[in-house]
Amino acid sequence: MPNAFWCIVEDDRRGTPKKVMAEVIGEAARVSSGRAEAVWLTDKASEAGLTQLAEWGATKVWLLENGAFAPYRSEVWVGAAAELAAKERPRAIFAPVTSRAREFAARLAARLGVGLAADCVAFAMDGERLVATRPVYAGKLLAKVAWAKTPWVATLRPNVFRPADGEPGRKAAVERPSGPTPAAQMKFVERREEVSTGLPELTEAEIVLSGGRGMKGPEHYVILEDMARVIGAAVGASRAAVDAGWRPHRFQIGQTGRTISPKLYMGFGVSGAIQHLAGMRTSKVIVAVNKDPEAPIFRIADYGIVADLFEVVPELTKEFKKLLEK
Ligand SMILES: Cc1cc2nc3c(=O)[nH]c(=O)nc-3n(C[C@H](O)[C@H](O)[C@H](O)COP(=O)(O)OP(=O)(O)OC[C@H]3O[C@@H](n4cnc5c(N)ncnc54)[C@H](O)[C@@H]3O)c2cc1C
Repeated sequence: MPNAFWCIVEDDRRGTPKKVMAEVIGEAARVSSGRAEAVWLTDKASEAGLTQLAEWGATKVWLLENGAFAPYRSEVWVGAAAELAAKERPRAIFAPVTSRAREFAARLAARLGVGLAADCVAFAMDGERLVATRPVYAGKLLAKVAWAKTPWVATLRPNVFRPADGEPGRKAAVERPSGPTPAAQMKFVERREEVSTGLPELTEAEIVLSGGRGMKGPEHYVILEDMARVIGAAVGASRAAVDAGWRPHRFQIGQTGRTISPKLYMGFGVSGAIQHLAGMRTSKVIVAVNKDPEAPIFRIADYGIVADLFEVVPELTKEFKKLLEK
Protein backbone atom coordinates (compact mmCIF):
# COMPACT_ATOMS: atom_id res chain seq x y z
CA MET A 1 0.00 0.00 0.00
CA PRO A 2 1.44 3.43 -0.82
CA ASN A 3 2.12 5.60 2.17
CA ALA A 4 2.14 2.62 4.48
CA PHE A 5 3.14 2.98 8.10
CA TRP A 6 5.25 -0.02 8.99
CA CYS A 7 5.25 -1.45 12.48
CA ILE A 8 8.27 -3.58 13.37
CA VAL A 9 6.97 -6.52 15.37
CA GLU A 10 8.40 -7.16 18.81
CA ASP A 11 7.66 -10.74 19.77
CA ASP A 12 8.32 -13.02 22.71
CA ARG A 13 10.88 -15.02 20.65
CA ARG A 14 8.41 -17.88 20.60
CA GLY A 15 6.21 -16.73 17.76
CA THR A 16 3.82 -14.42 19.58
CA PRO A 17 3.77 -10.63 19.13
CA LYS A 18 3.97 -8.72 22.41
CA LYS A 19 0.97 -6.73 23.53
CA VAL A 20 2.87 -3.46 23.08
CA MET A 21 2.27 -4.06 19.35
CA ALA A 22 -1.44 -3.29 19.91
CA GLU A 23 -0.29 0.21 20.86
CA VAL A 24 2.17 0.60 18.01
CA ILE A 25 -0.22 -0.70 15.35
CA GLY A 26 -3.15 1.18 16.90
CA GLU A 27 -1.25 4.48 16.74
CA ALA A 28 0.13 3.82 13.25
CA ALA A 29 -3.38 3.06 12.01
CA ARG A 30 -4.81 6.16 13.68
CA VAL A 31 -2.24 8.61 12.38
CA SER A 32 -2.14 7.11 8.87
CA SER A 33 -5.91 6.64 8.57
CA GLY A 34 -5.73 2.88 8.41
CA ARG A 35 -2.47 2.30 6.54
CA ALA A 36 -0.66 0.30 9.23
CA GLU A 37 1.32 -2.72 8.09
CA ALA A 38 3.32 -5.10 10.26
CA VAL A 39 6.86 -6.20 9.45
CA TRP A 40 7.74 -9.36 11.31
CA LEU A 41 11.30 -10.65 11.30
CA THR A 42 11.36 -14.00 13.04
CA ASP A 43 12.70 -17.51 12.87
CA LYS A 44 9.26 -18.87 13.67
CA ALA A 45 5.95 -17.09 13.23
CA SER A 46 2.68 -18.55 14.44
CA GLU A 47 -0.73 -18.49 12.78
CA ALA A 48 -2.16 -17.08 16.00
CA GLY A 49 0.44 -14.30 15.90
CA LEU A 50 -0.46 -13.39 12.31
CA THR A 51 -4.14 -13.32 13.22
CA GLN A 52 -3.41 -11.13 16.22
CA LEU A 53 -1.51 -8.58 14.10
CA ALA A 54 -4.43 -8.42 11.67
CA GLU A 55 -6.96 -8.01 14.46
CA TRP A 56 -4.96 -5.13 15.91
CA GLY A 57 -5.28 -3.35 12.57
CA ALA A 58 -2.36 -4.34 10.32
CA THR A 59 -3.71 -4.46 6.77
CA LYS A 60 -0.72 -6.46 5.63
CA VAL A 61 1.98 -8.50 7.34
CA TRP A 62 5.40 -8.58 5.72
CA LEU A 63 6.66 -11.88 7.04
CA LEU A 64 10.41 -12.35 6.93
CA GLU A 65 10.74 -15.80 8.39
CA ASN A 66 14.22 -17.24 8.48
CA GLY A 67 16.42 -19.03 10.98
CA ALA A 68 18.99 -16.26 10.50
CA PHE A 69 16.75 -13.83 12.40
CA ALA A 70 17.26 -15.63 15.72
CA PRO A 71 18.99 -14.77 17.89
CA TYR A 72 18.63 -11.09 17.06
CA ARG A 73 21.68 -9.59 15.40
CA SER A 74 21.25 -6.03 14.28
CA GLU A 75 23.29 -6.36 11.11
CA VAL A 76 21.09 -9.20 9.83
CA TRP A 77 17.83 -7.52 10.77
CA VAL A 78 18.80 -4.08 9.53
CA GLY A 79 20.12 -5.46 6.25
CA ALA A 80 16.86 -7.30 5.54
CA ALA A 81 14.56 -4.49 6.66
CA ALA A 82 16.54 -1.82 4.81
CA GLU A 83 16.41 -3.84 1.60
CA LEU A 84 12.65 -4.26 1.88
CA ALA A 85 12.15 -0.60 2.79
CA ALA A 86 14.19 0.54 -0.22
CA LYS A 87 11.92 -1.55 -2.45
CA GLU A 88 8.54 -0.90 -0.87
CA ARG A 89 9.13 2.70 0.26
CA PRO A 90 6.97 2.92 3.40
CA ARG A 91 6.14 6.40 4.58
CA ALA A 92 6.95 5.67 8.21
CA ILE A 93 8.55 2.93 10.28
CA PHE A 94 7.42 2.59 13.89
CA ALA A 95 8.83 0.31 16.58
CA PRO A 96 8.24 0.08 20.33
CA VAL A 97 10.83 1.26 22.83
CA THR A 98 12.42 -2.04 23.84
CA SER A 99 16.13 -2.81 24.12
CA ARG A 100 16.11 -4.64 20.81
CA ALA A 101 13.95 -2.24 18.82
CA ARG A 102 15.77 0.80 20.15
CA GLU A 103 19.03 -0.41 18.66
CA PHE A 104 17.38 -1.73 15.52
CA ALA A 105 15.49 1.51 14.73
CA ALA A 106 18.58 3.67 15.21
CA ARG A 107 20.68 1.52 12.90
CA LEU A 108 17.89 1.21 10.35
CA ALA A 109 17.42 5.00 10.22
CA ALA A 110 21.18 5.45 9.77
CA ARG A 111 21.24 2.83 7.01
CA LEU A 112 18.35 4.54 5.20
CA GLY A 113 19.92 7.96 5.70
CA VAL A 114 16.90 9.38 7.52
CA GLY A 115 16.20 10.75 10.97
CA LEU A 116 15.00 8.86 14.03
CA ALA A 117 12.60 10.26 16.60
CA ALA A 118 13.19 8.11 19.66
CA ASP A 119 10.89 7.51 22.61
CA CYS A 120 7.88 9.34 21.14
CA VAL A 121 4.80 9.97 23.27
CA ALA A 122 2.47 11.54 20.65
CA PHE A 123 2.05 11.94 16.90
CA ALA A 124 -0.02 14.24 14.72
CA MET A 125 -0.21 14.90 11.01
CA ASP A 126 0.48 18.52 10.11
CA GLY A 127 -0.70 18.65 6.51
CA GLU A 128 1.50 16.18 4.70
CA ARG A 129 4.12 15.76 7.38
CA LEU A 130 4.21 13.84 10.59
CA VAL A 131 5.07 15.65 13.81
CA ALA A 132 6.26 13.61 16.78
CA THR A 133 6.38 14.66 20.41
CA ARG A 134 9.22 13.33 22.54
CA PRO A 135 10.60 14.11 25.98
CA VAL A 136 13.96 15.88 26.19
CA TYR A 137 16.23 16.93 29.09
CA ALA A 138 15.34 13.84 31.10
CA GLY A 139 11.63 14.47 30.62
CA LYS A 140 11.63 18.13 31.72
CA LEU A 141 10.43 19.34 28.33
CA LEU A 142 8.47 17.92 25.43
CA ALA A 143 9.88 18.68 21.98
CA LYS A 144 7.97 18.49 18.71
CA VAL A 145 10.07 17.16 15.87
CA ALA A 146 9.54 16.44 12.18
CA TRP A 147 11.65 14.62 9.62
CA ALA A 148 13.38 16.06 6.57
CA LYS A 149 12.94 12.82 4.60
CA THR A 150 10.82 9.69 4.55
CA PRO A 151 10.55 7.09 5.87
CA TRP A 152 9.84 8.69 9.21
CA VAL A 153 11.48 6.32 11.68
CA ALA A 154 10.24 6.47 15.27
CA THR A 155 10.20 4.45 18.45
CA LEU A 156 7.10 4.63 20.65
CA ARG A 157 7.14 4.60 24.43
CA PRO A 158 5.07 1.69 25.78
CA ASN A 159 1.88 2.24 27.78
CA VAL A 160 1.37 5.74 26.38
CA PHE A 161 -0.61 5.12 23.20
CA ARG A 162 -4.12 3.77 23.19
CA PRO A 163 -3.97 0.10 22.20
CA ALA A 164 -6.02 -0.99 19.19
CA ASP A 165 -9.31 -2.49 20.34
CA GLY A 166 -8.80 -5.55 18.18
CA GLU A 167 -11.43 -6.64 15.70
CA PRO A 168 -11.96 -10.38 15.84
CA GLY A 169 -12.02 -11.97 12.41
CA ARG A 170 -10.13 -9.13 10.67
CA LYS A 171 -7.79 -10.44 8.03
CA ALA A 172 -4.48 -9.18 6.70
CA ALA A 173 -2.65 -10.18 3.55
CA VAL A 174 0.54 -12.03 4.39
CA GLU A 175 3.43 -11.18 2.09
CA ARG A 176 6.58 -13.28 2.23
CA PRO A 177 9.20 -11.30 0.38
CA SER A 178 11.86 -13.39 -1.24
CA GLY A 179 15.44 -12.32 -1.58
CA PRO A 180 18.67 -13.10 0.12
CA THR A 181 18.86 -12.73 3.87
CA PRO A 182 22.07 -10.90 4.68
CA ALA A 183 24.57 -13.19 6.29
CA ALA A 184 25.64 -12.59 9.84
CA GLN A 185 29.18 -11.41 10.24
CA MET A 186 29.00 -11.97 13.95
CA LYS A 187 28.47 -15.18 15.86
CA PHE A 188 27.35 -15.68 19.42
CA VAL A 189 30.09 -17.49 21.21
CA GLU A 190 28.67 -17.08 24.67
CA ARG A 191 25.83 -19.03 26.17
CA ARG A 192 22.53 -17.22 26.14
CA GLU A 193 20.31 -17.67 29.14
CA GLU A 194 16.69 -16.68 29.49
CA VAL A 195 16.15 -15.53 33.04
CA SER A 196 12.57 -15.43 34.17
CA THR A 197 11.36 -14.01 37.46
CA GLY A 198 7.83 -15.26 36.86
CA LEU A 199 6.71 -11.61 37.03
CA PRO A 200 5.67 -9.38 34.10
CA GLU A 201 8.40 -7.65 32.15
CA LEU A 202 9.30 -4.18 33.36
CA THR A 203 8.46 -2.33 30.16
CA GLU A 204 5.26 -4.29 29.53
CA ALA A 205 3.79 -4.23 33.03
CA GLU A 206 0.77 -2.11 33.92
CA ILE A 207 1.98 -1.86 37.52
CA VAL A 208 5.60 -1.38 38.53
CA LEU A 209 7.02 -1.51 42.05
CA SER A 210 10.40 0.15 42.29
CA GLY A 211 12.82 -0.38 45.16
CA GLY A 212 15.60 2.11 45.87
CA ARG A 213 18.48 2.37 48.29
CA GLY A 214 15.92 2.47 51.08
CA MET A 215 15.41 -1.28 50.54
CA LYS A 216 18.69 -1.66 52.43
CA GLY A 217 19.84 -4.87 50.75
CA PRO A 218 19.05 -7.45 48.06
CA GLU A 219 17.43 -9.82 50.53
CA HIS A 220 14.55 -7.39 51.15
CA TYR A 221 13.30 -7.30 47.55
CA VAL A 222 11.34 -10.42 48.39
CA ILE A 223 8.72 -8.22 50.08
CA LEU A 224 8.23 -6.29 46.84
CA GLU A 225 8.09 -9.53 44.88
CA ASP A 226 5.41 -10.86 47.24
CA MET A 227 3.31 -7.77 46.61
CA ALA A 228 4.05 -7.95 42.89
CA ARG A 229 2.69 -11.50 42.70
CA VAL A 230 -0.53 -10.44 44.41
CA ILE A 231 -1.25 -7.51 42.07
CA GLY A 232 0.47 -8.71 38.88
CA ALA A 233 3.25 -6.13 38.96
CA ALA A 234 6.85 -6.00 37.77
CA VAL A 235 9.65 -5.11 40.17
CA GLY A 236 12.23 -2.50 39.17
CA ALA A 237 14.97 -0.62 40.97
CA SER A 238 16.84 2.66 41.15
CA ARG A 239 20.41 2.94 39.96
CA ALA A 240 21.66 3.13 43.55
CA ALA A 241 20.21 -0.35 44.13
CA VAL A 242 21.62 -1.64 40.84
CA ASP A 243 25.05 -0.14 41.44
CA ALA A 244 25.09 -1.77 44.86
CA GLY A 245 24.60 -5.11 43.08
CA TRP A 246 21.17 -5.72 44.64
CA ARG A 247 19.38 -6.05 41.29
CA PRO A 248 20.66 -6.74 37.74
CA HIS A 249 20.90 -3.75 35.42
CA ARG A 250 17.94 -4.87 33.31
CA PHE A 251 15.70 -3.87 36.22
CA GLN A 252 17.04 -0.32 36.43
CA ILE A 253 14.53 2.44 35.80
CA GLY A 254 15.77 5.82 34.62
CA GLN A 255 17.90 7.76 32.23
CA THR A 256 20.54 5.04 31.97
CA GLY A 257 18.07 2.20 32.45
CA ARG A 258 14.57 1.39 31.25
CA THR A 259 11.88 3.89 30.42
CA ILE A 260 8.54 2.81 31.74
CA SER A 261 5.08 4.30 31.58
CA PRO A 262 2.82 1.99 33.57
CA LYS A 263 -0.69 2.75 34.79
CA LEU A 264 0.65 2.64 38.34
CA TYR A 265 4.21 3.22 39.60
CA MET A 266 4.98 2.72 43.27
CA GLY A 267 8.40 3.79 44.55
CA PHE A 268 9.70 2.40 47.83
CA GLY A 269 12.77 4.03 49.36
CA VAL A 270 13.45 5.92 46.12
CA SER A 271 14.41 9.57 46.61
CA GLY A 272 13.30 10.73 43.16
CA ALA A 273 16.54 11.93 41.56
CA ILE A 274 16.06 13.58 38.17
CA GLN A 275 17.72 10.64 36.42
CA HIS A 276 15.25 8.21 37.99
CA LEU A 277 12.28 10.42 37.14
CA ALA A 278 13.44 10.48 33.50
CA GLY A 279 12.47 6.84 33.27
CA MET A 280 9.09 6.89 35.00
CA ARG A 281 7.59 10.36 35.13
CA THR A 282 5.01 9.58 32.42
CA SER A 283 3.47 6.86 34.62
CA LYS A 284 -0.27 7.50 34.94
CA VAL A 285 -0.41 7.34 38.75
CA ILE A 286 2.67 7.71 40.95
CA VAL A 287 2.75 6.54 44.55
CA ALA A 288 5.80 7.17 46.74
CA VAL A 289 6.66 5.62 50.07
CA ASN A 290 9.57 7.35 51.77
CA LYS A 291 10.35 8.15 55.37
CA ASP A 292 11.77 11.56 54.44
CA PRO A 293 8.92 14.06 53.90
CA GLU A 294 11.33 16.25 51.90
CA ALA A 295 12.19 13.52 49.37
CA PRO A 296 11.90 15.03 45.85
CA ILE A 297 9.75 12.14 44.64
CA PHE A 298 6.84 13.60 46.62
CA ARG A 299 6.84 16.60 44.25
CA ILE A 300 5.66 14.46 41.35
CA ALA A 301 3.76 11.80 43.29
CA ASP A 302 -0.03 11.63 43.09
CA TYR A 303 -0.10 9.87 46.44
CA GLY A 304 2.63 9.93 49.07
CA ILE A 305 3.10 7.94 52.24
CA VAL A 306 5.68 9.27 54.70
CA ALA A 307 6.58 6.09 56.51
CA ASP A 308 9.00 3.21 56.86
CA LEU A 309 8.60 1.00 53.82
CA PHE A 310 9.25 -2.11 55.89
CA GLU A 311 6.01 -1.42 57.74
CA VAL A 312 4.03 -0.22 54.74
CA VAL A 313 4.83 -2.95 52.21
CA PRO A 314 3.56 -5.95 54.22
CA GLU A 315 0.44 -3.99 55.21
CA LEU A 316 -0.31 -3.03 51.61
CA THR A 317 0.26 -6.62 50.44
CA LYS A 318 -2.20 -7.84 53.07
CA GLU A 319 -4.80 -5.28 52.04
CA PHE A 320 -4.36 -5.98 48.32
CA LYS A 321 -4.82 -9.68 49.01
CA LYS A 322 -8.03 -9.03 50.94
CA LEU A 323 -9.38 -6.76 48.21
CA LEU A 324 -8.57 -9.19 45.42
CA GLU A 325 -9.98 -12.18 47.26
CA LYS A 326 -13.39 -10.51 47.54
C1 LIG B 1 24.64 10.24 34.46
C2 LIG B 1 23.77 9.66 35.54
C3 LIG B 1 22.80 8.74 35.17
C4 LIG B 1 21.97 8.18 36.15
N1 LIG B 1 21.00 7.30 35.77
C5 LIG B 1 20.13 6.84 36.71
C6 LIG B 1 19.07 5.97 36.35
O1 LIG B 1 18.92 5.56 35.20
N2 LIG B 1 18.23 5.57 37.32
C7 LIG B 1 18.33 5.97 38.63
O2 LIG B 1 17.52 5.55 39.46
N3 LIG B 1 19.34 6.77 38.98
C8 LIG B 1 20.25 7.21 38.07
N4 LIG B 1 21.27 8.00 38.46
C9 LIG B 1 21.54 8.15 39.92
C10 LIG B 1 20.67 9.18 40.59
O3 LIG B 1 21.28 10.45 40.50
C11 LIG B 1 20.47 8.81 42.08
O4 LIG B 1 21.72 8.69 42.69
C12 LIG B 1 19.71 7.53 42.31
O5 LIG B 1 18.52 7.53 41.57
C13 LIG B 1 19.37 7.40 43.80
O6 LIG B 1 18.74 6.19 44.02
P1 LIG B 1 17.78 6.03 45.28
O7 LIG B 1 16.66 6.99 45.18
O8 LIG B 1 17.46 4.59 45.39
O9 LIG B 1 18.76 6.36 46.50
P2 LIG B 1 18.83 7.60 47.46
O10 LIG B 1 18.86 8.88 46.71
O11 LIG B 1 19.91 7.32 48.42
O12 LIG B 1 17.43 7.55 48.21
C14 LIG B 1 17.05 6.56 49.10
C15 LIG B 1 15.74 7.01 49.71
O13 LIG B 1 15.23 5.99 50.54
C16 LIG B 1 14.60 6.58 51.66
N5 LIG B 1 14.56 5.56 52.72
C17 LIG B 1 15.60 5.02 53.38
N6 LIG B 1 15.15 4.07 54.23
C18 LIG B 1 13.81 4.02 54.08
C19 LIG B 1 12.78 3.24 54.69
N7 LIG B 1 13.06 2.29 55.59
N8 LIG B 1 11.51 3.47 54.33
C20 LIG B 1 11.19 4.41 53.42
N9 LIG B 1 12.13 5.19 52.81
C21 LIG B 1 13.41 4.98 53.13
C22 LIG B 1 15.46 7.78 51.97
O14 LIG B 1 14.72 8.74 52.70
C23 LIG B 1 15.87 8.26 50.58
O15 LIG B 1 14.98 9.25 50.10
C24 LIG B 1 22.13 8.55 37.51
C25 LIG B 1 23.11 9.48 37.86
C26 LIG B 1 23.93 10.02 36.89
C27 LIG B 1 24.96 11.03 37.29
